Amino acid sequence: MTIQDRYETVIGLEIHTQLATRSKIFCGCPNRFGAPPNTQICPVCAAFPGVLPVLNTAVLDLAIMTGLALNGTIRTRNEFARKNYFYPDLPAGYQISQFELPIVEHGALMIELEDAPRKRIGITRAHMEVDAGKSLHEGIVGASWVDLNRTGTPLLEIVTEPDLRSAAETGMFLKKLRALVRHLGVCDGNMEEGSFRCDANVSVRRFGDPKLGTRAEIKNLNSIRNVMRAIDYEVERQIDLIEAGEKVVQETRLWDANQNHTRTMRGKEEAHDYRYFPEPDLPVVVITPERIAAVRATMPELPDEKFARFQAEFGLNDYDAGVLTADREMADYFEAALAVARPADPKTVANWVTVELLGRLNREGMEIGQSPVLAEALGKLVHMIHAGVIHGKIAKTVFAHLWEQGGDPQKIVEERGLVQVSDQGAIEAEVDRVLAAHGEKIAQYRAGKTQLLGFFVGEVMKATRGKANPGVVNGLLKDKLA
Ligand code: ADP
Ligand code: MG
Ligand code: ZN
Repeated sequence: MTIQDRYETVIGLEIHTQLATRSKIFCGCPNRFGAPPNTQICPVCAAFPGVLPVLNTAVLDLAIMTGLALNGTIRTRNEFARKNYFYPDLPAGYQISQFELPIVEHGALMIELEDAPRKRIGITRAHMEVDAGKSLHEGIVGASWVDLNRTGTPLLEIVTEPDLRSAAETGMFLKKLRALVRHLGVCDGNMEEGSFRCDANVSVRRFGDPKLGTRAEIKNLNSIRNVMRAIDYEVERQIDLIEAGEKVVQETRLWDANQNHTRTMRGKEEAHDYRYFPEPDLPVVVITPERIAAVRATMPELPDEKFARFQAEFGLNDYDAGVLTADREMADYFEAALAVARPADPKTVANWVTVELLGRLNREGMEIGQSPVLAEALGKLVHMIHAGVIHGKIAKTVFAHLWEQGGDPQKIVEERGLVQVSDQGAIEAEVDRVLAAHGEKIAQYRAGKTQLLGFFVGEVMKATRGKANPGVVNGLLKDKLA
């Protein structure tokens, strides 16, 4: 047992998701990424004196949808609160947020890890708030510039319970959450562009200790890989501190991907530092059951519902159902392939997708959306196996051709003469030729060395360049050798 094994890692996340509305949360400016600095702003964005915010109600619907998808409760009476702090990219000197009364509470998201039972990660709350602008430093000497385009972008901050126990669990959770918000269309999930930003709260404690350890909050994490790297680094740093008899300080730390470490950014602020108070410029927002029902009616099938349906309808196991419903494109691909492959068995189609296709995609570092083998083509391939046109081994050759050149598997099979030979007469001729050449082995077989059957089958398959129907070959050989 190493020193590390005596400590338990505890992680809770705060995820800022930018909601994909057309306009900003409190004004009519476009909610758009990548425009030249300060071209998507108005007096509200720039916090001119006398301006007033007006709530974009599309934000409510996206927040409700996310809350429902996370199995949370939706608050009826919503208040906004003012969170006061000074920052150059925040011209108002405060951020409009929600404090004690968030729109979503008590949610959860299930995660699946290989070789582990599904695990529930609690969602403490999710609240609406406004994004700030951006300070620009790069390539500017002796000054910083401020770009207010991002000001006013609607955010839903999702806060988890401290339920995560490793970098791997955290990575899986973030993948699932990102897939979920993309699936719903509430956020594009782009971590590099900052539309899906995650702060990780990390602490360690001795196994068995009922109290949580002191946490550090890590910022500047722009990819899931970096979140996982930062956690690994931070856990080691905290264990080293404790083992050296020192204390972990509660603070905000910055991840530096180039140096591969975290460093102190600032002492952790407490809620009272922000002097929260109810936002006087916005009325209370009441969310009616009708509104919630209307949002629910527009929601697509959720990943967990899909997971249950794939098991019930197609008889898939946890692992296959988990992989195939991990994101919408994957599930759509599978269902499109299955529709063409029918009446072939769904399990066979699942195997072709998870083993052959995903194996190849992973090796090439590609996503399902980039697959050169289209769902219809893969479905047709499985259909041809089912119909006995080709058998499994030839199908792998056809798959390789499909990967290289795309197109129709039937054409490939015809052009390359790969059609399975099931004609008894033709196969029998090959069987006889093989048997005639191996008299000695026939004697051994008849003397009890029946495992030689595989040898004979192999020889016949070789002679027919893999095209003979293996069932027919087996049957003929057994008859003749008996
Ligand atoms: P703040 O907004 O000040 O960061 P919150 O109470 O909202 O504080 O907590 C933020 C996150 O920190 C939550 O995701 C929570 O699960 C996590 N968290 C709280 N205590 C710990 C701890 N001891 N170790 C790890 N994570 C923690
Ligand atoms: Mg925090
Ligand atoms: Zn504006």
